[in-house]
Amino acid sequence: MSEDAFLDKLFPRTFMVVNVQVGDEDAYALRDENGFLYKKDEVMEIFENAKKFYEVDGVDEFIKNENKKQSLNLHLNRSNIAGTDEQGRTILSLPEADMRQFNRNKNHWSFKCALCSEKVSSRERDHYYVQNTDIGFFLSLPKTSHMVCSKECGKVVAKEDIREWMHEEGYQDHLIIE
Ligand SMILES: [Zn+2]
Repeated sequence: MSEDAFLDKLFPRTFMVVNVQVGDEDAYALRDENGFLYKKDEVMEIFENAKKFYEVDGVDEFIKNENKKQSLNLHLNRSNIAGTDEQGRTILSLPEADMRQFNRNKNHWSFKCALCSEKVSSRERDHYYVQNTDIGFFLSLPKTSHMVCSKECGKVVAKEDIREWMHEEGYQDHLIIE
């Protein structure tokens, strides 16, 4: 079962399922995108071919996998996509850490970099960085932000977070980090 064959069957036409009444029974009919009902011989061919697909061993796994890919297509920020590699995986470019100014009018404060543990203090410098993992919507990736000493540390922290999520959710076949 190849993905192309699957997509060829699916792409050319749109099917809308509509409720119909057959005698006392509820049933379904199929309409096209313009609202015309499909003829019997058209839908029978579709049903038979759909059955071939849905009855293949491992079809649930295949669908799950395809839908993961689709979820990335749909939900990743365009700005975080750096292209695709030769295996068709999406190359993810990490979000850059935001630079923040220490507020001179407030009391001094400090924190430890989330990666290297270096102390970042408003007594010694005028800025720090906040790194988030915002690479898209609806991706089940927890929105985290870490205070870090530098863009470089931020990049490593974001990479760790995103990598963990990729492995938990099974995205590693579809996504690689730049
Ligand atoms: Zn650091």
